Amino acid sequence: MSAYLRLAGVNKTFGSFTALGHIDLEVEKGEFVTFLGPSGSGKTTTLMVIAGFEQATKGEITVADQSLAHLAPQERNIGIVFQNYALFPHKTAAENVYFPLQMRKVGKKEGMKKAEEMLELVGLAGFAHRLPKELSGGQQQRVALARALVFEPDLLLLDEPLGALDKNLREQMQIEIKRIQKRLGVTTIFVTHDQTEAMSMSDRIVVFSNGAIEQAAAPLDIYHRPATRFVADFIGESNLLEATITDAASGKAQSPVLGEVTCGAEGMPPLTDGQAVTLLIRPEHLKLSREPKEGRQNAQMVIETIVNYGDNAVVIGHAGDQQIRVRVPGADVVILKEGDSCHFSWTADAVFVLDK
Ligand code: ATP
Repeated sequence: MSAYLRLAGVNKTFGSFTALGHIDLEVEKGEFVTFLGPSGSGKTTTLMVIAGFEQATKGEITVADQSLAHLAPQERNIGIVFQNYALFPHKTAAENVYFPLQMRKVGKKEGMKKAEEMLELVGLAGFAHRLPKELSGGQQQRVALARALVFEPDLLLLDEPLGALDKNLREQMQIEIKRIQKRLGVTTIFVTHDQTEAMSMSDRIVVFSNGAIEQAAAPLDIYHRPATRFVADFIGESNLLEATITDAASGKAQSPVLGEVTCGAEGMPPLTDGQAVTLLIRPEHLKLSREPKEGRQNAQMVIETIVNYGDNAVVIGHAGDQQIRVRVPGADVVILKEGDSCHFSWTADAVFVLDK
């Protein structure tokens, strides 16, 4: 099966500045893909090029094998929601949602009926006659979503649509958007710089850095099997340690901080003897103890800071020059003190190798 949306060699420059280097990406029909990355990494530019608000300098974009090159934004059949995509202030919620249908010459009676059905789908039954100023921020975003979906777009593009909402409302809307997207089966690209949001909502996450794709994979793959050091560092909390592979066949490495380590996480890249690598151990895979733990690999650290989150805490310490982060159950924090020396331990399956 061929991809539904395909970006091939997409490059975008603004004067002498390269915003997108060479973007290749394929998205399946019905997929929910999130663009995640630091500010300025090219997420919005990629979205704008797909939407047609920006022209790619090079490369091709196709939907169902049809090139979008010569289509103006309004001809692309793409629904878009921005963080501040203003609704028409003098139109009611239903009239706002009807607007794209009106542009497509759908009659008022039929169009308003569809608009009201769409408002119902986004949880705004009974709000059809309200003006935007009579709706909360979250409700306005629901209207914007209904307006982007009412004409059955080929693609739905969402650019930080929840950025202006408070945490609780944001979480509620994440669940809602996911529900509506699955129900309609609309191919969706969601831009965010919030990694929890990306983790919880996406079929696949595309990690951007400096106008390039670092990795495109399912959320758990991104977390457990990052392709690059940048991804390992950007997604979640990580301990990254330099090491050299001493015996590739048995996964043995020598690390100045940890000593001899056995690397055995699933899905590691192929190893060779003498290879310089970076080891990744997530803080939740380390345990702290007074004495070395039997059956685990151990090293020592001195506790520097304890950051308490209630149900859990992150203990930050130093082993030589290396900072070590350990996530512990909240209850364990009472027995730990800053300045204490302790052991941290792990098992081979917690050690993932990144090729340098
Ligand atoms: P954010 O999370 O902050 O929205 P982003 O990943 O979406 O960031 P883009 O908005 O795609 O990043 O910007 C990528 C780079 O391109 C940035 O360095 C930005 O300054 C630059 N850029 C974007 N639009 C223009 C423009 N119209 N003219 C010049 N440079 C631009």
